[in-house]
This record gives sequence, structure tokens and C-alpha cells, in this order.
Amino acid sequence: MRLLQWFVKHWLVLSERVLLVGLAILLWAIAYPSIDQTHTFEFHWVMQVWVINLLLMIVSAGGLHLWFIRFKKQGNTLKFDPRVQGKNNSLWNFSDQVKDNMFWSLGSGVFQLTAFQVITMWMMANDYAPTVTFADNPIWFVSALVLLPIWSAFHFYWVHRLLHVPFLYKHVHALHHRNVNVGPWSGLSMHPIEHVLYLSSLCVHWIVASHPIHLIFHVIYQGPGAAMTHTGYEDLLIRDKRRLALGTFYHQLHHRYYECNYGNQEMPWDRWFGTFHNGTEEATRQTRARKKKMYQ
Ligand SMILES: [Zn+2]
Ligand SMILES: [Zn+2]
Repeated sequence: MRLLQWFVKHWLVLSERVLLVGLAILLWAIAYPSIDQTHTFEFHWVMQVWVINLLLMIVSAGGLHLWFIRFKKQGNTLKFDPRVQGKNNSLWNFSDQVKDNMFWSLGSGVFQLTAFQVITMWMMANDYAPTVTFADNPIWFVSALVLLPIWSAFHFYWVHRLLHVPFLYKHVHALHHRNVNVGPWSGLSMHPIEHVLYLSSLCVHWIVASHPIHLIFHVIYQGPGAAMTHTGYEDLLIRDKRRLALGTFYHQLHHRYYECNYGNQEMPWDRWFGTFHNGTEEATRQTRARKKKMYQ
């Protein structure tokens, strides 16, 4: 029953995931170069992928930023943290949280997202990476779309725990964690080393048979998808109705208390390994004790 409920919640309603699959199919059909154009690395198609990724990031994070933060379309309704984004604070590059977040997202973030994507496309074109079509195996084709977010959650949990090892935290992951009060641009705002680790989730296509649609779905799930999970709001309201599940409270608690909720709700790793924070005082106390122990 639980599995069925999970499936209905994520796949049979207008969720972030359904939107992203639709977008992946559209981008595959009309925007990205086709795989037979990617046998050799050439400037024009690599640039084409980079420009599309840059635009996707600007439209998704920028659009959510304008809606929620600039024009305050939803005020503080369903916002986790009532404060405004940081300004005139030397914590940030350019003394501005939004500009700082844009710098890391659009610079290293989009660059590395594109690098992983074009290398995988080139591998698919040259049969270095296994491919599949809908006609070959429709069951696998659909299953892979359902499994990709689960894979991504598995990968993210372990990479994220690694990033919380004090040495890596201090030198790498702290950059993302300056965002306690997150906004859409915070999602992909990471240190370049964190980008490599986070985006290495895409290497699964080097060994598991995939179609370019799977790759594109995975790319937008990791890139623009991160903007959607960091809006700082629980849901997108349109005419007072909850229209789209956004930034999860789960990851918000991670940004607030650090040593808890390393994963996401996709897989119960945090529950199994005792790092789950459910929002209660008791969980906060346990999280603080864990942090203290880690930094002894
Ligand atoms: Zn985050
Ligand atoms: Zn973290």
C-alpha cells in the first residue's frame, strides 16, 4: 500500500517529477542535438548543450526567484524561514546571497552539468555506453524513469555524508551551507568539488542501458530540479490551492541543523542510519549531540 501511495503521489499527479519527464521529452525532441550528431566532440553541439542548460537554469531558478522572492507572490505563506535573502554581508561573494548563488550555479554548476552530459552523449554515440530504445524494451524504458530518482537519492545520501566529514565539510561543503535561509538559486550553488561529486550520479548511464531521454531527465532532475527543492517554500500556491510540491521540509531541516536528513524522502536511509530529523525538539537535541561528537 505504501509503495502504491508513493507511486500515485509522485507519478500520477502533477508533481515536479511528471513535469520534468515531460520537459525531458520535449527537450530531446526539439532542443538538444541528437545522438548521431555527437560522434566526435565539436564546438557547435557542445555549445548548444551548454546554452540550453544555461537557459534552463536561468528560467527555472530565475523564474522561481522572481515569483517567490522578488515579487513575493506568495508572501510568507508556506515559507520555512521568514527572513529575506542575505545582502551587504561579506559572507557572500559580491556581498549578496543571490548574486553569490547565481555565480556558483551558472558558472561551475552549468559547466559541469554540461560536461557530464556531453561526455555521456559522446559515449552513447560511439557505443561506449549501452543504449536502449522504447521499441527495444518498453518495460525497462519506463522503469528506468521511475528508478532514476531512487538511484539519485541513493547516490546523494552517500555523497552527502562524505561531504559532512569535517575536513570536506570545512573546505568544500560549507559553501552550500552558508545558505541557512535558502532560495531557488541556492540549490545548485556548490563548491566545484561538490559539483563533481553530486553530478557523478550521471555516470550511471555509462553502465546501465539508457535512452537520451533518461539522460536528459536525469540532467534536469539534478540541475534545475535542485532549484525546485531549495525554494524555501513548502508548496507553490495558485489562487490559494497547493499546485506543486516544492522545497521539502526535509532538506530545509538539513540546512537548519546540518547533521541530520542527509538524504531525501525518496529512500529511508536517514531513518535506517539514525540521522532522521522529524522536526521535533527531541530530534534537534539528538542532532546537536551528533554534531558535537563529530567535531570532538
Ligand atoms: Zn541543500
Ligand atoms: Zn549538507
